Amino acid sequence: MDLVSQSGNPNSVSTIINPNNPNSSSTISSPAVYAPSRYENQKRRDWNTFGQYLRNHRPPLSLSLCNGAHVLEFLRYLDQFGKTKVHNQTCPFFGLKNPPAPCPCPLRQAWGSLDALIGRLRAAYEEHGGKPEANPFGARAVRLYLREVRDFQAKARGVSYEKKRKRSKPKLAPPPAGASQ
Ligand SMILES: [Zn+2]
Repeated sequence: MDLVSQSGNPNSVSTIINPNNPNSSSTISSPAVYAPSRYENQKRRDWNTFGQYLRNHRPPLSLSLCNGAHVLEFLRYLDQFGKTKVHNQTCPFFGLKNPPAPCPCPLRQAWGSLDALIGRLRAAYEEHGGKPEANPFGARAVRLYLREVRDFQAKARGVSYEKKRKRSKPKLAPPPAGASQ
């Protein structure tokens, strides 16, 4: 789940933001009400990670020029930090949930992690003044890519991502608020 805290990886782009840091750019004045949720913290870390990615991009890339293709590039870049074994179609364990032996197939970001990440970045983009219609994280190409990843990982790992729909009791948790018009 956690895309930015691979402690073992020296190339990690993670940025630790201390919510109590007086140098934080937060403009909230009362510390009493400043109790960001886990989601908010993760969203800020993701946003910082993406910002670093843009700064390190060659050629340099600014947020305003960023489109869906760049977001896809970012997602593929993150795969190197993934921890989810995704079997190649040629692997004898393709489609096996619990492979009996190790195999050289690559580790990737799990679809669920990417999907949640894109949701947070999409929200963060608009919170930082981006226009919804220009939101690169909401681009059609990104949606299609995520669907492709989901379908392939479901097959490769022998798991189903459709489980929730079959449950008789739907979870009625409201979506996280904070979408400021
Ligand atoms: Zn394999």
